[in-house]
Amino acid sequence: MLESLKKQDSVVYNLVKSEINRQKNGLCMIPSENHASVAVLEAMGTPLSNKYSEGYPGKRYYTGNQFIDQIENLAIERAKKLFKADHANVQPNAGSTANQAVYFAMLNVGDKAMGMDLSHGGHLTHGSPVNFSGKLYNMIHYGVEKDTERINYDKLAELAHKEKPKMIISGATAYPREIDFDKFTKIAHEIGAVHLADVSHIVGLILGGVHKDCSSADIVMTTTHKTLRGPRSAIILCKEKFAKQIDKAVFPGLQGGPMEHVIAAKAVCFEEAMKPDFKPYQEQIKKNAAILAKVLGDNGIRIISRGTDNHLVLIDATSVGITGKIGSTALEEAGIYTNRNTIPFETRSPFDPSGIRMGTPSLTTRGMKEGEMEQAGEFITSVLKDPGNADLKKGIRKNVEKLTVEFPIYKEFD
Ligand SMILES: *Cc1c(COP(=O)(O)O)cnc(C)c1O
Repeated sequence: MLESLKKQDSVVYNLVKSEINRQKNGLCMIPSENHASVAVLEAMGTPLSNKYSEGYPGKRYYTGNQFIDQIENLAIERAKKLFKADHANVQPNAGSTANQAVYFAMLNVGDKAMGMDLSHGGHLTHGSPVNFSGKLYNMIHYGVEKDTERINYDKLAELAHKEKPKMIISGATAYPREIDFDKFTKIAHEIGAVHLADVSHIVGLILGGVHKDCSSADIVMTTTHKTLRGPRSAIILCKEKFAKQIDKAVFPGLQGGPMEHVIAAKAVCFEEAMKPDFKPYQEQIKKNAAILAKVLGDNGIRIISRGTDNHLVLIDATSVGITGKIGSTALEEAGIYTNRNTIPFETRSPFDPSGIRMGTPSLTTRGMKEGEMEQAGEFITSVLKDPGNADLKKGIRKNVEKLTVEFPIYKEFD
């Protein structure tokens, strides 16, 4: 693979190769990342990218879409089957644009909606003041309790009844605990609001049956590149009564020509998620995260909410006397990739917050299990407890590389 690129543009080729090697030789522990299958990557690298197909299958503005229509219909049908959904729109380019489309469909500018506070684990698009969502809409925020660091559903209901938002958004990017989507639906419907479940991070766990279901929500949005392990993209699923509004909001509301090469790759990842090995993969992601949290906790690092129910672990780096930036940078030098993150009731700045977020989807894709998670937990602990020690980081990096050799990702790119 990549032979033509190598011949024609060695500069780009060499950078691509370096990135592939970085992924291969390190521990990718950013919980929103994964290693998609070669089939998914191949679908994206096809001449489907050349085609314009504004509109929807059977209703295109350009000719020559007979095969594109079949591909997009296949992606739609598979998405509907996988999520047991009435309707699927597979055109959104990313999670953020998909959320924009849902807001555009369901709200008017200035309308009130409710999402999780960014520093408590919500996403930027759930109403952060620096994001379109916080600028265009009147966003009310719920968060977690100070002592449990979990959502309190009674308080959530109270806030919803007091504020009466038109839409309630569930879902998060840095919340290590299970989300009760049925409770969100019940609360939303009590006040006549729409429930949007943004399951981007945990979608794989849901489909694998190791997280509570989200099908009671009126609208479900998910990215396809996180625990679902597909291409970098997103989809929207909804009840029949919202189908027209959602489709109109995506096109012509927000986007132009859809990325049909990515839609083909989405179809491939939906098929992969229906295969028998998908459920054990998701089970292992969760088991691996639990072990990781236990090792780090036993080593004296404070774990937000004292553990995890899903694929991610959020730690308080200040519990070992450092910041999230110092810790994540030191880990990077040791070949372990995480990201700095705010923690609930954050007292530091978002650029150098207290937390570090890490997860297990990518390592689990490589075949790593409990034993490797214990090793990773020990590597992480030793770096975080002595982040300035260059020899230590060099030694850990060697150990990381040794471990990764046993768990290759893509032989196709070697
Ligand atoms: C990742 C994520 C998004 C945004 O996805 P992008 O593809 O990065 O735009 C939205 N919501 C949640 C909860 C996410 O985790």
